[in-house]
Amino acid sequence: MAAIEILTTESEQVRETWQARALCRDGTGSATPLFFSEELQDIAAAKAFCQECPVKGQCLDAATERREPWGVWGGELFANGKILARKRRRGRPPKVAPAEPADPIAAARSA
Ligand code: SF4
Repeated sequence: MAAIEILTTESEQVRETWQARALCRDGTGSATPLFFSEELQDIAAAKAFCQECPVKGQCLDAATERREPWGVWGGELFANGKILARKRRRGRPPKVAPAEPADPIAAARSA
């Protein structure tokens, strides 16, 4: 019993440590809509935002372990517990690919 409590406490401490360093954690939740958006431009911006996060690896591992049902975690888009290589736009694909934002990180921060 005591060993389980110690392991749980250590696991919670590790989680709190890396989560406290998350780039998206600003205390207001202002970035949340970006990470759960259905818009391709928002998803790209969220993924770019994650690239600068110091806990990207831990975040991705934790999301994979939890089988996240949706959203961008650790720089990857999840759907039904799996990483999606690419999200397709609804409807017929365009004949010309849409332009990528010039600076997706700046776009993510201003969103
Ligand atoms: S990798 Fe992305 S979603 Fe995960 S904590 Fe960092 S900024 Fe947030």
